[in-house]
Amino acid sequence: MIIVFDLQASRRDIDHVVRRAASLRLKTHVSQQGGRTRVGLHGDLDGLDPSVFSGLPGVQDVRTLTRPFHLASREFKDEATHVHVGDEIVGGDRLVLMAGPCSVETRDQMMRVGSMVREAGATFIRGGAFKPRSSPYSFRGLAEEGLEILAEVREATGLLVVTEVMSPEQVGLVAGYADVFQIGARNMQNYALLDAVGKAGRPVLLKRGMSSTVEELLLSAEYILSHGNPDVILCERGIRTFETMTRNTLDINSVPLLHELTHLPVVVDPSHGTGKASLVPAVSRAAVAAGADGLLIEVHHDPSNAWSDGDQSITGEAFSKLVPQLMGIQRALTGTEPDPR
Ligand code: PEP
Ligand code: MN
Repeated sequence: MIIVFDLQASRRDIDHVVRRAASLRLKTHVSQQGGRTRVGLHGDLDGLDPSVFSGLPGVQDVRTLTRPFHLASREFKDEATHVHVGDEIVGGDRLVLMAGPCSVETRDQMMRVGSMVREAGATFIRGGAFKPRSSPYSFRGLAEEGLEILAEVREATGLLVVTEVMSPEQVGLVAGYADVFQIGARNMQNYALLDAVGKAGRPVLLKRGMSSTVEELLLSAEYILSHGNPDVILCERGIRTFETMTRNTLDINSVPLLHELTHLPVVVDPSHGTGKASLVPAVSRAAVAAGADGLLIEVHHDPSNAWSDGDQSITGEAFSKLVPQLMGIQRALTGTEPDPR
């Protein structure tokens, strides 16, 4: 349920509603939209009569939310969320490109890839220092040394850093280096981790679990939002289906569907979505045409020797060729000139 206050509502009116909600054992979430205060009520709302709140001073409207994800829903907030990261905005008119290797391997590799993707128009460098791997014997990342390399790339190129955090214990360490925390597909329902990044005051890129529904993705986003962290970027990265010729099936439907259901920005990962470098350009173009706010693409200077996910990593040259095509599609959709950054 959302309580919408009138423009003249006082602090006292709002406190009154919050106290009333607390007496009913409901959680409250206060926000502003279009100059008005709104209080979201969360908890056991079954049988709650809206008239408990509708007659209170300052209350203009009481709306019932139909979706189980409240704060993430368009019903709660219909303006698109702009996630500000440094000088960048995810969820605005500009298509945001996040690119880099699957894993941080060496300083030289990261500097090379960083300058390639920066030159081509990316504003974020991606790369995992903590890698969730199906086998414990696979390369699992350089840990803090990898984070230090990412920070050096940021220093040298101005690129923002998006990198994975895998456990609540790692949040403090990763926060020392990352501009955006990545929550990987395998951890989308790690609720302790969602709670921890919800409290960490830093934007979060939340990847859809490989067997998760869109509703489950939004409920996971709700965990982060419910701690007062509004900066959640959703990422469609493909789901498991019966198809075996590709690594995952990129659910292109989810892009416009998420835009209908939520105000949060949507980024697409065509690399994990396909598992094949040859498919990445076409699926990237499709994602932009479907309305993605950004792309997360694995780029490596030497994919055949990558320490992880080489098969789905495109070269710097392929990325440079792709970017103008993506910008052209974005321009056709929005009618605006791409920012030359
Ligand atoms: C990654 O981005 O390299 C990664 C491990 O992705 P996902 O969590 O989507 O599998
Ligand atoms: Mn990867």
